[in-house]
Amino acid sequence: MKKHRYQKLLEQIVNSAVKQEGDFHATAKMSAELLFEQLDVSRVVISGLSEESNILELVCNEPVIALNIEHKSRPQPSASPIFVEELRVNRHVVSDDCIKDSRLIELIEYYQQHGVKAALEVAIRINGHLEGVLSLERNAEISAWQDSEIQLASQVADQLALTLATKYSYDKDERLKLFLSATEQSDQIMMVVNLASANIEYVNQAHFELTNISKDQVVGRPVQTLEFFKQFPEKAESLLVKARAGDSIEEEIKLVRRDGSDYWVRLSVKRFISERGNHFALINADNCTEQHLHQRELERLAWRCSLTGLYNRIHFGKVLDKTKEGHLVLIDLRGFKRFNDTYGHANGDLMLVEVARRIRHFAEINQIAEIARIGSDEFAVLISASQDANVTNGLIERLYSQVELPVSIGIEQIEPKPALACVDIASIEQLFPALTCADIALQYAKNKQGNAIQVFNSALLNAFKDDAQIERDLAVAIKGRQFELYYQPLKDLKKQAYIGAEALIRWHHPKKGVLYPGAFIDIAEQTGLITDIGSWVLEAACKQLNLWQHRQIDISMHVNVSARQFFGGTLFEQVWELIGRYRLKPHSLILEITETELMEDIRSATNLCNELAELGVGLAIDDFGTGYSSMRYLKQFPITKLKIDRSFISDLSISHESREIVSAIIAMASALNISLTAEGVETKEQELFLADHLCHQAQGFLYSPALRVSEFGEFLEKSVLVH
Ligand code: C2E
Ligand code: CA
Ligand code: CA
Repeated sequence: MKKHRYQKLLEQIVNSAVKQEGDFHATAKMSAELLFEQLDVSRVVISGLSEESNILELVCNEPVIALNIEHKSRPQPSASPIFVEELRVNRHVVSDDCIKDSRLIELIEYYQQHGVKAALEVAIRINGHLEGVLSLERNAEISAWQDSEIQLASQVADQLALTLATKYSYDKDERLKLFLSATEQSDQIMMVVNLASANIEYVNQAHFELTNISKDQVVGRPVQTLEFFKQFPEKAESLLVKARAGDSIEEEIKLVRRDGSDYWVRLSVKRFISERGNHFALINADNCTEQHLHQRELERLAWRCSLTGLYNRIHFGKVLDKTKEGHLVLIDLRGFKRFNDTYGHANGDLMLVEVARRIRHFAEINQIAEIARIGSDEFAVLISASQDANVTNGLIERLYSQVELPVSIGIEQIEPKPALACVDIASIEQLFPALTCADIALQYAKNKQGNAIQVFNSALLNAFKDDAQIERDLAVAIKGRQFELYYQPLKDLKKQAYIGAEALIRWHHPKKGVLYPGAFIDIAEQTGLITDIGSWVLEAACKQLNLWQHRQIDISMHVNVSARQFFGGTLFEQVWELIGRYRLKPHSLILEITETELMEDIRSATNLCNELAELGVGLAIDDFGTGYSSMRYLKQFPITKLKIDRSFISDLSISHESREIVSAIIAMASALNISLTAEGVETKEQELFLADHLCHQAQGFLYSPALRVSEFGEFLEKSVLVH
């Protein structure tokens, strides 16, 4: 009868839905209730060992303790090793007098607190592993535990173990499914590769979305079937080697789909080792095409010149910083600003685009990777180090001659007039930045006749250092009264009399002796010191002119004005003030500015010239004929005088062309009613030619070099005596 009841109890548990679903809590509760009903026990306690913490948790306690004592939970496995060992080995502890039972010594306090006299403790085990305890407790000593009771408790404990096992496997399954559907949902490609067999074990849906290659064409196959391997066999192989070695990998690659479209992926590969010790690689890949294109666009905007498409100065600078050898070549277009002003910006752009095209073409043919536009009219080329010197020189000359070819602008053929500088990067050994050296060489190149090519060398470097010294010395020269004006007479060829003087600066350098302007004017101009020097010159010249006028010496004073001074914004005020202070006669002061400088900014030049003309100050164009001559603008300026550059005069006797040019200039000046001075007249023959062609005035060593003021006075007196 009892056996039958016990059998029914068991069946109830076995067949219960909660047990089949692996609901341990509900099954434990049900089991505890049934056991409590069927057996003569005071309490049924079922505890489960929590998976994570290995702590025995009370799952079910029947009947619920309503006594007014604090419920004390059973000692944890860590605190009851004897008990646990007993359960592990013997499966249960049957004790009719548990307070005195040495096997239960660790539980005595608990038993006492709950008034337990007899206890039947049964292990809930899976594969021999303790998962929980089923405890039957009796508070009164009724009778000894019967075998049938022990058997029933063991069977119930087995069912509880089974429930737990079901629960674990359901949990595991559930988790697996959860992970799987999560990875399937991901937009990121996830792929698992077995590193031993190189087979693809898994790939998620995202792979199909990106590649259009279905899963069954991938899973179970060797990685070598992947497009990545087909398109980049070497790289892919090396990735596999790295992955096997356990190195993490991140990489961006461009792949082509079967339909020919391409896309960028960002790959990351990580090795992991499974519980069983197998090596796998987890490959994550993102479609980063859009980011990549965006990035590229940003880089293009940041690093490229929008007009020519070449790299810009920022990018080139970065590359150059990392470059330790090879040649840096700079190409500058001389007179480009002038060209731009004369022909308009649209044509200026055409010229730049064409020059850029030629440089790019040159770079492609010669496998030169780095070319850039680093300034408005400045281009840079980086020639790799492998070339020997002769090859490099040949390259440079070819580049120069290609850039030099005429460019068609409208119906005109315009010569770009390049200047080219070259620096052997290794040779400068971090003395100076390569660009600085190239700039230095470029200044020399620009001043060269013929092929304007200059290779940077130690002589240039020394000259540069000298210049730096000059720059330092110049700063104290004005205060130190180290400057002096010399005067060179201008002769009127018709009147055969000296009618003017050009003030030419000399520097009494404390160490170097007398320095001519060629040694320092450019430096002063570049550093801005010219503003102070120019002001001093103007003042000194006006003061001298005042003295001459005071002594009834009727000559005009020619003062050279540099571009920076001319466009500096204060020239008019200065001149206005000086004319007032020294009460200079109108038209006795003439400012000289070179043609090229004047054309730098035609609009402000025109305004200033008009204002100066109103003050009665003359304006002479210096070195006329050496720049781009634009007759159009000559008419626009209120010019008093042209000074024909001395290169034409010195060539007069030998060059038919120079004779033609000089007579053309003379004809033009007389047509425009502009006065003319020929510079650098050294021979009687030259003077004769000029006089024959009705050139108004002449200046040069034939008459006198520039003289100190006292000598100039003597010179004038003598010449009056002569005539
Ligand atoms: P520039 O204005 O063309 O001055 C004429 C230059 O030619 C002077 O050289 C003069 O000494 C030289 N020269 C005169 N006659 C002859 C000749 O028959 N044969 C030869 N071979 N040369 C002759 P300098 O004094 O060395 O001046 C050079 C340049 O320096 C000037 O050229 C001018 O551009 C600049 N300069 C001189 N003084 C000043 C100044 O006070 N301010 C500014 N901004 N520049 C100045
Ligand atoms: Ca001059
Ligand atoms: Ca001159």
